[in-house]
Amino acid sequence: MDKTILLGHGSGGVMTSDLISNVFVRHFNNTLLRVMGDSALADADGTLIAFTTDSFVVDPIFFPGGDIGKLAVCGTVNDLAVAGARPLYLSSAFILEEGFPIADLERIVVSMADAAREAGVEIITGDTKVVKKGQCDKVFINTAGIGTVEKKYAGISSGALISEGDQLLVNGFLGDHEIAILSAREDLQFETPVISDVSSLNGLIGQMLDAGIEVKFMRDITRGGIATILAEIAASVNKGLLIDEQSIPVREQINGICEIYGFNPHYLANEGKVIMVVSPGSADRALEIMHGHSLGKDACRIGTVTAENAGRVLLKSPYGGTRLLTKLAGEQLPRIC
Ligand code: MG
Repeated sequence: MDKTILLGHGSGGVMTSDLISNVFVRHFNNTLLRVMGDSALADADGTLIAFTTDSFVVDPIFFPGGDIGKLAVCGTVNDLAVAGARPLYLSSAFILEEGFPIADLERIVVSMADAAREAGVEIITGDTKVVKKGQCDKVFINTAGIGTVEKKYAGISSGALISEGDQLLVNGFLGDHEIAILSAREDLQFETPVISDVSSLNGLIGQMLDAGIEVKFMRDITRGGIATILAEIAASVNKGLLIDEQSIPVREQINGICEIYGFNPHYLANEGKVIMVVSPGSADRALEIMHGHSLGKDACRIGTVTAENAGRVLLKSPYGGTRLLTKLAGEQLPRIC
């Protein structure tokens, strides 16, 4: 194990999961934590609640399509929503650097208030800390969120419902968020600016559940990208995933930028994308519903759960060959969320 923290420990890939297992889960060690879902599901006097927390350190704090505040609200709402929960309440804790303009703080807070209103949640508690100039970078935000889970959706967050033949769906183009951050940070000028996809998915997900779509599992496709998340799903449920490479939706422009910067689009982070595993009989209806929603109009089916190749993700190329898709090994771009 590494002796000191490296940037890669925050990538959301292999190094992050190793650190979580070897340090946090090892010592906090309890049944609910060991599930390691987007939210923990806990029983509160007969009501099933989902509970999650996130920290946000994105650089820059304002970027095309959003800011650190919107990211904080949407990210937390999404971790609740993909657990099958109805997000209700959030906390927000601020770590502020001495000298940070209050006008910028207010702009971030207004953005959080707007995002919360839009997602139908309330921010009902918080905390404020200030550190000396140079001891943090402008502003870091920590949020926690709770929501309630109907008993019939209790199985969604663990992955235990996933079975052979299930279909994998994504709600649109991948990679926009990470490239939007890159372009803001490096001051890159593209003819068509790349806008972050940061958005709350609870509306879209709620519609699917209300329509009776047989949702087996969901995960928001954040750090580590689609590749890391698929690899995690395959390993945790010990099933194979067969993915059609051509069907993974990535904009032409994003592919082009990836080529220049040596990024692999399959590892790009998103902040408004979800992978849904649904029963084969629900897939067509699920896509229909997604296509009717503003956050799912480019939704598509990208693959199937298989009994063979248990624990692995196989990517089928347009030329007929297949190759293994693995978790993000190092770090593509630090501080993207
Ligand atoms: Mg998540």
